[in-house]
Amino acid sequence: MSDKECSLQQAESTISGIRVADSEDVRDIEEPMAVHTFRQALILDNLLPSRHDDNHMMLRFLNARKFNIEKAKCMWSDMLRWRKDFGADTILEDFHFNELDEVLLYYPQCYHGVDKEGRPIYIERLGKVDMYKLMQVTTSDRYVKYHVQEFEKTLSVRLPACSIAANKYIDASMTILDVQGVGLKNLIKPAREVIMRLQKIDNDNYPETLHRLFIINAGPGFRLVWSAIRPFLDPNTASKINVLGTNYKSALLEFVDQSELPDFLGGSCTCANEGGCLRSDKGPWKDQNIVKVRNKPRSMSAIKLLLILTSLQHFRKVLRLQSM
Ligand SMILES: [Zn+2]
Repeated sequence: MSDKECSLQQAESTISGIRVADSEDVRDIEEPMAVHTFRQALILDNLLPSRHDDNHMMLRFLNARKFNIEKAKCMWSDMLRWRKDFGADTILEDFHFNELDEVLLYYPQCYHGVDKEGRPIYIERLGKVDMYKLMQVTTSDRYVKYHVQEFEKTLSVRLPACSIAANKYIDASMTILDVQGVGLKNLIKPAREVIMRLQKIDNDNYPETLHRLFIINAGPGFRLVWSAIRPFLDPNTASKINVLGTNYKSALLEFVDQSELPDFLGGSCTCANEGGCLRSDKGPWKDQNIVKVRNKPRSMSAIKLLLILTSLQHFRKVLRLQSM
């Protein structure tokens, strides 16, 4: 479908009867129906390669477009095109970020642990970013590729492992941005450009994967920068963001156990045997027992059986509702 056709058809094709977030029960029934309709529409337009035939992924796109099928289909089609152009399908195998050790010195970031509900936690220490030095050890194109590779790893490795560990479906992460010391020196033009590029890639291609974002150590300097960035954010994304000052610890501990937080954020974890929390990639995705479960074909059948049973349950609910 061309972009023009996309915009023409976007008008008013929200599935009739979809009431977003009215109640858990209504969502339980309507979401599978919406996904089914969306899936049929994608198949009809030859937009559903087998590797993306994933109901949860389709639901994320529907949510991002408020259950408007045509808008979601356009977003999906753009995503498929971007993935082909960018090489996202093979980036886990064919991109090697050999400069990671040096990059972490000038842009400290990591996936580390899970929140109390089992979601992976992603941490960035933005105040410690040194863009001049970063650009001496890598390029912005390579950095963007690394970011996409990490996102792909989260979707295909971290989230499935977290789902097994928490015994429920986990499809989003919690992010902590430590902005202590963020000022103009961190947000020179190349930094702003990279941040905007990453933001666009994430919004367009990985919608609804952020559950909650904590911005901590926000001082007056940061608030100035924040007010400049905020208008560029999707309103739904903006609503998930909590901006906290230096007394952030008790707020974080409501959502994260102390043992899952690195010591530099007031937690008790140091990952001393693994080169520190920034390098450890601590989480259920490193647990060999979980990795074994993920790799067992029999376990996949069990997961599929569970999904079929859940769908049947939804179907029965729909029948019951229609016969009332
Ligand atoms: Zn740690």
